[in-house]
Amino acid sequence: MQMVYKFRLYPTSEQEQSLLFVMEVCRWIYNHFLSIWNGVTKIPSRHDLQATLPELKKDHPNLKKVNSKILQMVLFMLYNNLKALRELKKNGRKVGRLRYKKYGRFKSFILNQSGFKVKTTGNALDKLYVSKVGDIPIKLHQKIDGVIKQVIIKKYKSGEWYALICTEKDAQHKIQTPRSFIGLDMGLLHFLTDNMGIQIENPKFYKQTLKRIKIEQRRLSRKKKGSKNCLNQKLKLNKLYNKLTNQRDDFLHKLSRYYVDTYDLISIEALNIPNMVRNHNLSQSILDSSWSKFFYILSYKAESAGKILIKVDPKNTSKECSICGNIKDMPLSDRVYNCSECGIIIDRDMNAAINILKRGIMRQGLPSTLPEIAPLQNLFQVSASSIVEGRSPFPLGRGSSLKYRVPFF
Ligand SMILES: [Zn+2]
Repeated sequence: MQMVYKFRLYPTSEQEQSLLFVMEVCRWIYNHFLSIWNGVTKIPSRHDLQATLPELKKDHPNLKKVNSKILQMVLFMLYNNLKALRELKKNGRKVGRLRYKKYGRFKSFILNQSGFKVKTTGNALDKLYVSKVGDIPIKLHQKIDGVIKQVIIKKYKSGEWYALICTEKDAQHKIQTPRSFIGLDMGLLHFLTDNMGIQIENPKFYKQTLKRIKIEQRRLSRKKKGSKNCLNQKLKLNKLYNKLTNQRDDFLHKLSRYYVDTYDLISIEALNIPNMVRNHNLSQSILDSSWSKFFYILSYKAESAGKILIKVDPKNTSKECSICGNIKDMPLSDRVYNCSECGIIIDRDMNAAINILKRGIMRQGLPSTLPEIAPLQNLFQVSASSIVEGRSPFPLGRGSSLKYRVPFF
């Protein structure tokens, strides 16, 4: 299985010049070959394209200052673009030609298989060796799992540099008999509630960043379009958007890590998220995309750990009584499920989480014996910032001893 990690780079100004130089050479190569092959009816084979590189180096010594693997990847990309275009034409589509890349429009380059090395230093910043550039300070805020196959160096609109590290890893053997289970109910009022009664609050630490974004947006609208001030202001805003995305991802990584480490089987609803939340406000949409990102991170973390992730039918998970199966209307304002049939009184979201877990257990082919459950559950509320800061308030062992047990083990 493949994973992509994103880490911030802190190049020295000298290194930054070298990185920009690499991108400029990439752009030159791209345009050079495009001028030769654009519009030509027969595009060369990938092999022929690559064979022209050494020849070109003789006349253009600058090319020698860049790792040749990087240049090969540029050719590979161009080759794919040309091929894709030709396919479209074949299918009768009206397509234009590929465009030349203007100065500064080449914002990333790829190191494939070699030409890089991650070096841990034990200091706050580690090093990423990039061939012919040097050891660039990098913030490895996360452990890299698997074998690194590719590194993409990218300059963002904000002016910040990042390394996208792509790894490959054999998936763990899937656990055959899961011994611990959890159901997660995603919410609007709270980020999620699990069937144990742990309720994760929506992140509040965004608020400050969001507030600053609004202020800077207002400032931008007062700047003269195209002016230097306007560009600087845009840069400032892009930095803030980056910050917001990073804060969100950090929270999602840590939260999903907790669930994957603690439970063998995780059950969630199969939600059609793009249709559920749609918002045209950019900063808001970053927050909205949290669910789909969370599911994505959860699923690859579960896969790499051999844990089981099940997506279940979301129909009536809130309306169904998790004890007796009675169905009743549950307007969003009802925060407590009060069953007229069996008399249980339980938090609305926790009731849904239990239903989600039960469906997951059934899907897995395990006996769906009714769980023991105390009539009144106290929720255990956890703030998002406490997860991010690692003061995980989750009571240890809570997974086994709890309110909700599956009695067949
Ligand atoms: Zn009931």
